[in-house]
Amino acid sequence: MDNNRIHELRERLDGINGELLKLLSERASIGIEIGEIKKSEGLPFHDPVRENEMLDRLAARNEGPFEDAVIRHLFKEIFKATLQLQQPAGKPQLLVSRKSKTEDTIIRIKGTAIGGSDSVLVAGPCSVESAEQVMEVAASLKRAGVPVIRGGAFKPRTSPYDFQGLGFEGLVMLKEAADEFGLLTISEIVDPRHLERAADYVDIIQIGARNMHNFELLKAAGDMRKPVLLKRGLAATLDEFLHAAEYIVSRGNSEVMLIERGIRTYEKWTRNTLDISAVPILKQQSHLPVLVDVSHSTGRKEIMAPCAKAALAAGADGIMVEVHPNPPAALSDADQQLDIGEFEQFVREVKASGLYRQSVP
Ligand code: PEP
Ligand code: MN
Repeated sequence: MDNNRIHELRERLDGINGELLKLLSERASIGIEIGEIKKSEGLPFHDPVRENEMLDRLAARNEGPFEDAVIRHLFKEIFKATLQLQQPAGKPQLLVSRKSKTEDTIIRIKGTAIGGSDSVLVAGPCSVESAEQVMEVAASLKRAGVPVIRGGAFKPRTSPYDFQGLGFEGLVMLKEAADEFGLLTISEIVDPRHLERAADYVDIIQIGARNMHNFELLKAAGDMRKPVLLKRGLAATLDEFLHAAEYIVSRGNSEVMLIERGIRTYEKWTRNTLDISAVPILKQQSHLPVLVDVSHSTGRKEIMAPCAKAALAAGADGIMVEVHPNPPAALSDADQQLDIGEFEQFVREVKASGLYRQSVP
């Protein structure tokens, strides 16, 4: 008897499922037609105000047994599915995505190409400390065939009592040393108000890990027409990293390079954890050049060369490394900077690996 009743009720449920499916399909067809009108009129597909009105009306008409929250949840799913029909690719494509631009972005600066067929090395002190210091480093870069010198002049330090950098004076020293040896310059800018003035001294603006989520700085860098090296935030997901790059590119500055510099994990034997998997993922997801900073990620001199080789093997377009004439006396990152001899050995090893792409050796 009970079995018969269940059978009968199940048949009714099947009938209702069929009715619901018919209604859902009818609703979807109307949604698609609305989507086409919106598209032709350039209106946004998603209308959160209208969505809330519909949910409020449904909740007001709800007589149970489902709670209002359940009804809202169910209908929200239906709305979401309809929106996906209107907009087949889901969310609008990011400009930094490979789906928006399939070919690699190549950033050309005074004869150096970043992101093309050749690998690039970027090296220099953590901080610019004196004219002599950067001059000595620049000379060693020239000897080693490294085209880009880095050096921080505005240092985002953990402690306000630590060396904060020489500011614009440091940028002048960096540029003088670079000009002497025909190198490109890269330096971190932390204040949007400094960008324009800094552009006279730097060929590439660095946005540091701590500022990857500084949206006003990203927007201001996006308004510049100057290449930007964007570092991955200390705890940023790759999705957040790409969206940070999108802030720059969406304002018209398409010359953005991404750099993996290690993320925070529980591991203490390295300064950060070099996320090598970020390299092929970023290369697959985005057309922007991808570099790896082996200094801030590892913090350990003896593993920098193998990590650089791993990065190149994974598809990185370039490597950044810190070098200082007298690391123990450095005013920042003393433990991780290579001395000039170690740096020259590092470059030799990386270049000899067969992984460093160089059309003119
Ligand atoms: C740097 O490259 O000078 C630096 C401070 O690195 P990060 O922003 O990756 O910590
Ligand atoms: Mn440093």
